[in-house]
Amino acid sequence: MKLYNLKDNSQIVDFKTAVRTGLGRNQGLFFPKKIPQLTNIEQILKLSPHQRYFEILKNFVSENMDDSTLKMVIDKTFRFPAKLEKVSTQNYCLELFHGPTLAFKDFGANFMANCLQEFASEQPITILTATSGDTGAAVAHAFHGLKDIRVVVLFPKGKISELQQKMFTTLGDNIHTVAVEGDFDDCQQLVKQSFDDASFVEQIGLNSANSINISRLLAQVCYYFDAFTQLPEDKRNSVVVSVPSGNFGNLCAGIIAKTLGLPIKRFIASTNLNDTVPRYLQSGEWSPNETIATISNAMDVSRPNNWPRIEYLMQSDQFDRKDLTGTAVSEEDTRDSLRSLYQSGYISEPHAAVAFKALADSLVDDEIGIFLGTAHPAKFKSTVEETLEIALPLPEALESCATKEDLSVQLQANFEQLKSHILGLSV
Ligand SMILES: *Cc1c(COP(=O)(O)O)cnc(C)c1O
Repeated sequence: MKLYNLKDNSQIVDFKTAVRTGLGRNQGLFFPKKIPQLTNIEQILKLSPHQRYFEILKNFVSENMDDSTLKMVIDKTFRFPAKLEKVSTQNYCLELFHGPTLAFKDFGANFMANCLQEFASEQPITILTATSGDTGAAVAHAFHGLKDIRVVVLFPKGKISELQQKMFTTLGDNIHTVAVEGDFDDCQQLVKQSFDDASFVEQIGLNSANSINISRLLAQVCYYFDAFTQLPEDKRNSVVVSVPSGNFGNLCAGIIAKTLGLPIKRFIASTNLNDTVPRYLQSGEWSPNETIATISNAMDVSRPNNWPRIEYLMQSDQFDRKDLTGTAVSEEDTRDSLRSLYQSGYISEPHAAVAFKALADSLVDDEIGIFLGTAHPAKFKSTVEETLEIALPLPEALESCATKEDLSVQLQANFEQLKSHILGLSV
């Protein structure tokens, strides 16, 4: 399948090129012109998970991967489940945090790393990624120790939880981490500036592992199908999915799943106080505010970089605007939502709680709600503990890095400084 640069339709590439380059000319995102419609959804839902992912993904990658290679990449990527947990008669949480770094980003990061390994060439590459929390850990773990790939992770200094930070700043080897004096949008801006510098891109073989990389989204499409396979058949007709959103990659993946034919009734774009998209869906006006720090900090994004893809699916009539509403949830409502989940016997965390609150406000009688559990509660230990007044044990993956040394360096939000820092790193 060919992918188009959404800002410059004359740039048309294959999957391999899109994965290797990340972003197109003029910072345009790569995306299929038309998402195919699968006619055999019923059968696909009956397959084993890996067979199912194969049936979904081959539509996008077959030009660059033969069947056996894709099957191998799937086997290497999907080593942990997406589990649907019932939290009340009408509501389910799709738990996406059973991977190595306990967040849904493990799915996309692992698929991307395995694809890039398949597409490796002589020239070493540099993965430059900005993280508001979980991307950094997922990407760092997925690429740690891979040959000829150097990873540079930028994160906003002091704005992510210490444990989150330790999950990627303690790895070392080919994983280089930078604490930027600024917020997440500053980090994202530095990544964009780097891609604008053509000779720099060439010199270091620059690639981004942010959710702008199409491979990450495709891996995420798969778990929306998994959610359906775990629902009783009589509950599959009126499913509303609430997606806790920051950069809107996860929601975009869900919309792709629906466009492929998965019968999701509608979506809710759930955000914290960084509500650019809910306001846009209401008023038609795109007016990002300053980014606000919240307890669901992985969603502290006011200029979501995946939005143009969703906009494109709506503009090209592949996805009906009416099937998407937006809800912004306050800090106090997020905490209340966390408490109300706890009262029904479910320990969650702030991001999922945002999505649950939006769902609770919107669901009507005959609908079934699914909210995405994007991270393990222990990743947001202090907020969960103080809100619920309980003690949370640390899972092994977090415990083991808590005592290791933080190897990150500090830089200002300045492109020239970053550039010379990267040029000075070994591969
Ligand atoms: C990244 C992240 C999000 C936001 O996902 P997007 O795809 O960027 O919208 C939500 N929750 C958690 C825990 C995350 O790490």
